[in-house]
Amino acid sequence: MIEQLRAEIEALRAQTRPLEPDAGQRRAFGEQALDHALAYWDQVEAASSNRPWSEVFAQRLDPEFTEEGRDAAAVLDYVRECVDAPGFATTSPRFMAYIPGGAVPYSAFGDLLAAASNKYSGFASASPGAVRIENACTQWLAEVIGYPKEAAGTLTSGGSIANLTAIVAAREARDPDGGGAVYVTRFAHYCIDKALHIAGRGRAPKRIVATDDHCRMSIEALEQALEQDRRAGVRPWLVVASSGTVDTGAIDPLPQIAELCRRYGAWLHADGAYGGLFALCDEGRALLRGIEQADSVALDPHKTLFLPYGTGAALVRDGKLLQQAFSASGEYIRPLGESEVGPSPADLSPELTRHFRAMRLWLPLQMAGVAAFRAAQAEKLALARYFHARLSEIDGWDPGPAPDLSVVAFRYLPKSGDVDQFNERLMQQIQQEGRVMMSGTKIDGSYRLRCAILSFRTHLEHVDDSIDAVVRGAEALGG
Ligand SMILES: *Cc1c(COP(=O)(O)O)cnc(C)c1O
Repeated sequence: MIEQLRAEIEALRAQTRPLEPDAGQRRAFGEQALDHALAYWDQVEAASSNRPWSEVFAQRLDPEFTEEGRDAAAVLDYVRECVDAPGFATTSPRFMAYIPGGAVPYSAFGDLLAAASNKYSGFASASPGAVRIENACTQWLAEVIGYPKEAAGTLTSGGSIANLTAIVAAREARDPDGGGAVYVTRFAHYCIDKALHIAGRGRAPKRIVATDDHCRMSIEALEQALEQDRRAGVRPWLVVASSGTVDTGAIDPLPQIAELCRRYGAWLHADGAYGGLFALCDEGRALLRGIEQADSVALDPHKTLFLPYGTGAALVRDGKLLQQAFSASGEYIRPLGESEVGPSPADLSPELTRHFRAMRLWLPLQMAGVAAFRAAQAEKLALARYFHARLSEIDGWDPGPAPDLSVVAFRYLPKSGDVDQFNERLMQQIQQEGRVMMSGTKIDGSYRLRCAILSFRTHLEHVDDSIDAVVRGAEALGG
């Protein structure tokens, strides 16, 4: 019986062999995969920023699954043709649509190292080193924002989950039984509604606070709404301020909002997914003054620290409120008790077992140094001002308001015909050409193109390219 079982187990083991490539096989595939990534990075500068998917799917291979596995070259070819090539090239220095990020290559190596050792970053008892790096990263982010030592944070998959995490902390701290009112502007990111819904507060009384002519929350309107609610016996719960809107980069007046929140007992959450981390550079810190007074902040290192997608952060100024919202008992899982390297990431997040995300943030900061990130941010802010200034000098263009951060919302003013229609066609023209990638938005009912500069690869010549592209596009449409 035992002998037969041993024979069956050994037979199965023989079939698992492909899961354990030997040293030579690991090296061989490692070199092929590295060559693939290096070749990708080599073509980023020259390649178009938006490649029509139709071309690629004309020659598509199915992403089929085989019992025997496939040849490495065929698999990597598939990735190159069917994944790397089609669609937006978000890594392009001329990608200026939505909110670019770019993905610093050191992060890709960070992911490789983290997945290779597969350190368990939930509890210090499992990997004190990984937890120390996680906590060092959230503490560093907290310092960038200007938070005190008692702050705590968690690395999330992105800004949406960071906002959700913060809103759950706000709910537990200030609205456990519901009924409190929420205050936002119409420029709040739609993930806020999603987060309120998931947090069980989708039906909370919601006040859309008016904005001024720079798309910023009006202090008078906020005060009026808070006062009206208080008089009506509705408890102000949560004010969501934007620290850089997606549309125009507008930053709500944080110090005054914080003051009102204190007065009315509301939790101030700053959605800094796009703008918050500009606090790393001097100019950004000045613009974001007051963000350190927010009770919680959502950040997106995959935007403003140029990391690959999958890296957000939620920070709570009074760290124990984050812990109270997310730690459950589960004592069985912590055989070694309290840690010496700070809180356990699993106690600050809805996740238990998770990707060791900090490695993709920590490694590039180690390799490039903080100064390079700071300079890149200051460069992006200056490039946005440069784009705006150059467009202001060319006849026919309405460059829109001077950029708050690194987004310029502009349009062409044709001599005749419908302005919105012209600009929508202009955007399609630019996207089809594929040299420069931009997106559009509607502000106060009028259509505008958005030039969002945030890739670490975007420099002066790429912004000059983008000016040429929009001018060429307008000419092609008869403007
Ligand atoms: C990008 C963004 C979000 C959403 O973040 P994801 O990382 O896309 O989930 C939320 N708020 C603002 C202001 C953003 O710019």
